[in-house]
Amino acid sequence: MTALPTPVTLAPGEPIIELRGVNKWYGDFHVLRDIDLTVAKGERIVICGPSGSGKSTLIRCINRLEEHQAGRIVVDGIELSNDVRNIEAIRRDVGMVFQQFNLFPHLTVLENCTLAPVWVKKTPRAEAEALALRYLERVRIPEQANKFPGQLSGGQQQRVAIARALCMNPNILLFDEPTSALDPEMVKEVLDVMTDLAQGGITMLVVTHEMGFARQVADRVIFMDRGEIVEQAPPEEFFGAPKNERTRLFLGQIL
Ligand code: ADP
Ligand code: MG
Repeated sequence: MTALPTPVTLAPGEPIIELRGVNKWYGDFHVLRDIDLTVAKGERIVICGPSGSGKSTLIRCINRLEEHQAGRIVVDGIELSNDVRNIEAIRRDVGMVFQQFNLFPHLTVLENCTLAPVWVKKTPRAEAEALALRYLERVRIPEQANKFPGQLSGGQQQRVAIARALCMNPNILLFDEPTSALDPEMVKEVLDVMTDLAQGGITMLVVTHEMGFARQVADRVIFMDRGEIVEQAPPEEFFGAPKNERTRLFLGQIL
């Protein structure tokens, strides 16, 4: 087999994700409209907007869980084309955390964390387990390593999902409403872990309506509506002086 394309080595601040004129349709429905977005290495971006505005679709296009039909997406200097080697190379470097955790219920926490490193990256099992334990400590649940997901609270399961994503040593982490399925008392433990990661310098794109998190952690907040990026700005400006009427309306509803 031909070797996978190698991600380019980037300094902080250099573009790690670029979308140019990205369009996507579901059948006749135009879900992403002319999306232009450049994300710098190490940048932390929060994406918000009404339900159905295309937020999930946008971030799912970045690791090819959804396919765009027009425009270009370049991640780590690799073009997201139909070449499966490009897709595989990008997926290895982009971790994803979902609203519903998506852990494998029949595997223990530790096995959930070692599966991809062992099978995809061919990391020796002992090494993968040591790494997994390190990340389980990072998300503050090393003592749960031998339990099954069903034995954990929602907040703990989501922290396992974050540890699992980290075990592939990605340069980019995508989060799709990671706290929306959690009981209120568990939201903070997950946001605390995400804040801690953000301080570690990983590039993060987070779809969330947790505006406290956005204010504290985001370098830039993006507002989407009806498939478009309507407005984007650093949090002080985004919350303090939103320019677009649709942004103001949205913020008025959620704040
Ligand atoms: P958001 O995450 O902002 O709520 P989504 O990206 O999930 O929005 O969805 C945007 C729109 O696309 C919604 O109207 C949704 O119903 C529609 N949609 C999402 N996934 C599909 C799909 N697989 N097939 C058809 N329509 C879809
Ligand atoms: Mg969504």
